[in-house]
Amino acid sequence: MIFAGITKSSLLDYPGKISIVLYTPGCNFNCFYCHNRLIIEDIDHIIPRKEIDDLLEKRLGLIDSVVITGGEPTLHFDLIPFLKKVKSMGYLTKLDSNGSNPEIIQKCIDENAVDYYAIDYKAPISKYEEIARSEANPRNVLNTIRLLIEHQKEFEVRTTVIPQLNLEDLIQMAKELPPLPRYVLNPYRTPEVYLESDQELIDVPPYSENTIAEFAKTVKLYQPNVYLPF
Ligand code: SF4
Repeated sequence: MIFAGITKSSLLDYPGKISIVLYTPGCNFNCFYCHNRLIIEDIDHIIPRKEIDDLLEKRLGLIDSVVITGGEPTLHFDLIPFLKKVKSMGYLTKLDSNGSNPEIIQKCIDENAVDYYAIDYKAPISKYEEIARSEANPRNVLNTIRLLIEHQKEFEVRTTVIPQLNLEDLIQMAKELPPLPRYVLNPYRTPEVYLESDQELIDVPPYSENTIAEFAKTVKLYQPNVYLPF
């Protein structure tokens, strides 16, 4: 398993837990608003594995959980053995995913490798490929979410409320999703690093938190467990 970034201590990435966050390189989507563009594109910058192993040993007992995020972690063939190793050390595990690989999520479920999942739902079906690009298929994402429900796993679904989504889009997404235990609406922040060709998209100003809170009141009619992280 290779990693391109570490956050050594985070209170934000696993609900109610202190986490180490490990970032895998590479992604099969290409969202213009990606905040990890350097990680998804620069697969040459890999952190020595010993550094990660030493950190995990040293923080045992001080940190509750290890969050694997990306990039897209499910692209890595040795994800599940790594998660199981971390779990066997005594950590809780969380997996962040764009939901594109239901087969890998099924394996994670079968092997009980993950304690908590966070899956992105990026746009209504009709706009999914326009927003996530790279031939992103929302049916796979919805299948991933259905699997987690079917197997009664702990999870949340997250949407970044980019300015290219309007309230109608958010309502449509809430209707497309099955009833969720936790649906997080994240505010969009303009990324510092982005593709030059995306300048026009980047130039659209973000919604204010107040506007997102107003949107959330309507979205709650369709997904009662909306959560705003601000
Ligand atoms: S799915 Fe996530 S990591 Fe991949 S491009 Fe989109 S925002 Fe970035």
